[in-house]
Amino acid sequence: MSATDACFSGGGMLSADAARAALIEAARPLSETEEVVLAELLGRVLATDVVSPLDVPGHDNSAMDGYAVRAADFGADGAALPVSQRIAAGHPGDPLQAGSCARIFTGAPMPAGADAVVMQEEVTLEDGIARISRQVKAGENVRPRANDIAAGSTVLPAGTRIRPQMVGLLASLGIPRVRVFRRLRVALLNTGDEIVEPGQPLAPGQIYNSNRYTLLATLERVGCEVVDLGRVEDTFEATRTAMIQAAEQADLIVTSGGVSVGEEDHIKAAVQAEGELDLWRVRMKPGKPLAFGRVGDTPFIGLPGNPVSAFVTLCLFGMPFIRVAQGQRQPFPPALRARWPVALERPLKRREFVRVRLERGSEDGVPVAQAFPRQGSDVLTSTVWAEGLLELPEDVSLPAGSLLNYWPFETLLA
Ligand code: AMP
Ligand code: MG
Repeated sequence: MSATDACFSGGGMLSADAARAALIEAARPLSETEEVVLAELLGRVLATDVVSPLDVPGHDNSAMDGYAVRAADFGADGAALPVSQRIAAGHPGDPLQAGSCARIFTGAPMPAGADAVVMQEEVTLEDGIARISRQVKAGENVRPRANDIAAGSTVLPAGTRIRPQMVGLLASLGIPRVRVFRRLRVALLNTGDEIVEPGQPLAPGQIYNSNRYTLLATLERVGCEVVDLGRVEDTFEATRTAMIQAAEQADLIVTSGGVSVGEEDHIKAAVQAEGELDLWRVRMKPGKPLAFGRVGDTPFIGLPGNPVSAFVTLCLFGMPFIRVAQGQRQPFPPALRARWPVALERPLKRREFVRVRLERGSEDGVPVAQAFPRQGSDVLTSTVWAEGLLELPEDVSLPAGSLLNYWPFETLLA
């Protein structure tokens, strides 16, 4: 990967930005698409622009319960007009004769010739005559045709991930199904002889396999179809066999653990035997080791084993790759800003993604980040307590109260 070679700095380490850019650059959107009905559309990614077949609203209509009138019938002190008809929503009326008005209700189509609605609170009604004691301007309380959407305009561009309100918008246009990218198939496997499935007893030195469930839940939440291959034991042959199996079944392979340089870390050799591998040392905490490459033709992302690192690197690096592969337009959410109350006198060597909650700032209302007290890469409770990640930059000192980048987990996992 020559593009990334150039990004290394600081003793063979890669900046977090360069690692993300390299993953985004390497990702290719799926080519296969399918038609999906509205009820099954949530979370899918549009493969084509959606163009409105209709004007919305389809006709000029009343914004109020009141009386439809012609502004030309009004003088400076108002008008007294006989009520000639009654028009309810869904029931078009007759053209409005000059010198008359129509009782009308919210959403009902304006009768031809009428150009304003006077709300009922401003009208006194006596013997079928409506009295309004002020001048009325054309357009008052009328919602014009195509005010919201004009026929032929693009309402949702290709690459949009469908949210609930978008399903409603499509329904309002009478569109029953749309073309989306097929789901990305992701093979997931976890390395480590020490990891045990929940429900099994723990022998001395063993720990439960948490990464499997964190990563599975994250991938499913973002609309991937997960091929869950479970745990792989720490041998070269087992790792290699599992990798070949994963490559055959999936569009992307995601692993956790086994990417450090320890003797029990076999991912590197297995991937090199079956494809190509870059082992990155990313200048960040938590995280650092991150592998990227391919097994056969299937791209591969190797996340670190520590549970917080696995989750955070999936959020920051795996997700951007996945979004591009799913056909999404925006690979990474824009950062929000939050204040960091602590001064940073000595510059950090590695960028830190601190698990924080936000509190409302006292002076100007800008949110202030509060860090979970234990920020170790094995402290999974930090990710549960926190609402998002605050980015402490490397190589600079900062005064207390600096405004820094913040991402809520909501947006990192969308
Ligand atoms: P490794 O990168 O394989 O050296 O793993 C780093 C640390 O993460 C070790 O303490 C592992 O026990 C732990 N770890 C690795 N995989 C998992 C997993 N699936 N669930 C929980 N902890 C893990
Ligand atoms: Mg391991």
